[in-house]
Amino acid sequence: MSSIILEARDIRYRYPRGMEAICGISFHIRRKEKIALVGPNGAGKSTLLTMFNGMIRPDSGTLLFDNEPIRYDTASLRMLRKRVGFVLQNPDRQIIAPTVYQDVAFGPTNLGYREDEVKEAVLRALRQVGLEGFGRRPPHQLSGGEKKRVAIAGVLAMDPDVLVFDEPTSGLDPTGSEDIMELLDELNHDGKTIIISTHDVELAYPWADRAILMTGGSILHEDIPEVAFGNLSSVRTAHLSLPTLLELHMELQKRGFSLPGKKPRTVLDMMHCIETLFETTQGPCRHGRITVCNVDQDSRELLLEWLSVHKGICTGAMGTRAKQCAENAGIHLDFTYSVIDKCILKALLGDDSLILTTESMVKRVYLRVDAYGRESGSRIPVLLLAPEQKMVHEKNGSEP
Ligand code: ADP
Repeated sequence: MSSIILEARDIRYRYPRGMEAICGISFHIRRKEKIALVGPNGAGKSTLLTMFNGMIRPDSGTLLFDNEPIRYDTASLRMLRKRVGFVLQNPDRQIIAPTVYQDVAFGPTNLGYREDEVKEAVLRALRQVGLEGFGRRPPHQLSGGEKKRVAIAGVLAMDPDVLVFDEPTSGLDPTGSEDIMELLDELNHDGKTIIISTHDVELAYPWADRAILMTGGSILHEDIPEVAFGNLSSVRTAHLSLPTLLELHMELQKRGFSLPGKKPRTVLDMMHCIETLFETTQGPCRHGRITVCNVDQDSRELLLEWLSVHKGICTGAMGTRAKQCAENAGIHLDFTYSVIDKCILKALLGDDSLILTTESMVKRVYLRVDAYGRESGSRIPVLLLAPEQKMVHEKNGSEP
């Protein structure tokens, strides 16, 4: 992966009249990584996160952003906060203006953008988080998930390189949490480095590129999630639990079952393990096909016409805009999260499915299905809905 964007060298911090909250921590975070800081309450996660944009200054040690030690004069902090956006756990504490537009405009206005630049930044950010047309709404009338999106838009309006989220799904229901985690994935896909804190192991395990397990102001373990969460003693010391899929995999191994080397991160991975176990990896003779509709390109008429021919097909939407398109067109969605994996599972059962997504995410479908095909030997055809021919092109799991 690419270069280091954030680095800590033996940093320490004690709150005034408090105990030491960060006790000598070193780590590095690379550009475009998805990092989860995981630990129990009081582990020091929030304290550490607030150091990333200079809200708290370490008592000792060095924090580097983009290979330069962070400086704490007003001008340097202003620039740092443009490049490292911080989304608080509670959006009510982040949203301050009487309308959504004014709130999202706060950051770019403070950075001295011209009025037309502010407008462009606000509209772009609201579009990114799926809140187009919400500009005049008073934030207090919004749902918890929408408020969270306003807070995220406020940060995105400054186009930061790094986005830091303290407990991003706190207070949200399961669907709201899934939507937010998917939005984080989209932002990461657009090139942002994403750092979250959480005590939710099941949330962090499939999502993160790397997990940093913390307790008592120190790092216990830092690695890819399969390894970090696979270290039982670290997991116990951090008062965490094993991710269910990892625990199941370990229990099967303890019973002497021979499983594929790669530990399962998703239900799809686990199904692959189980099928290997029962030597039924071939599955049905014919795999189902996955059709991808690029909502940025394909017309609503074409899509509705295609759906009228393929009545009842399992449909998923990936990304905020794709979900909105589905809603506007009255298309029922069977999958709104882990969409690609769920469609692969369908295909393995011989069923066809449809994924609605945006331009930038189409490639991701091909890459994921292709990677699964190489790992498992099951080649699943991916087809692109093609407007000019009103039919589909077969791509057979390779890139478009
Ligand atoms: P986490 O985010 O992992 O729950 P925090 O960073 O909030 O952990 O807290 C780390 C430690 O610092 C805890 O012992 C907590 O009580 C203490 N702490 C947090 N905020 C303050 C504060 N404003 N003043 C004094 N102590 C604090």
